[in-house]
Amino acid sequence: MSKRPRYRWRTWFRGRLPRALVGLFPKGLKDCGQHEWFRFDDETDRCYHCEVGERPHQHMPVDWDSDLWRDLVRLADEGDADYQQLIRKLKREEREGELTRAA
Ligand SMILES: [Zn+2]
Repeated sequence: MSKRPRYRWRTWFRGRLPRALVGLFPKGLKDCGQHEWFRFDDETDRCYHCEVGERPHQHMPVDWDSDLWRDLVRLADEGDADYQQLIRKLKREEREGELTRAA
């Protein structure tokens, strides 16, 4: 029997609830079994799904055609300043990454 990754429904709820309610669905405490990473700070990546998932930051190219990216752009276009700032930051990091790779 293959085990499915844990805690996906919690992540799903966190992505759809107002921020004030996100605490009702905390990340899982155990290893989710298949980490999916986001950049937590300059040095660290963390898993969306569990508290265990943490690693030194690794550059991950942005998939500009992904649904996630399209959702980000839509939210920014609707005027959300946090998302507008996030998009500027991601675009800047991609440019810097390309310059580093080209050098
Ligand atoms: Zn995980």
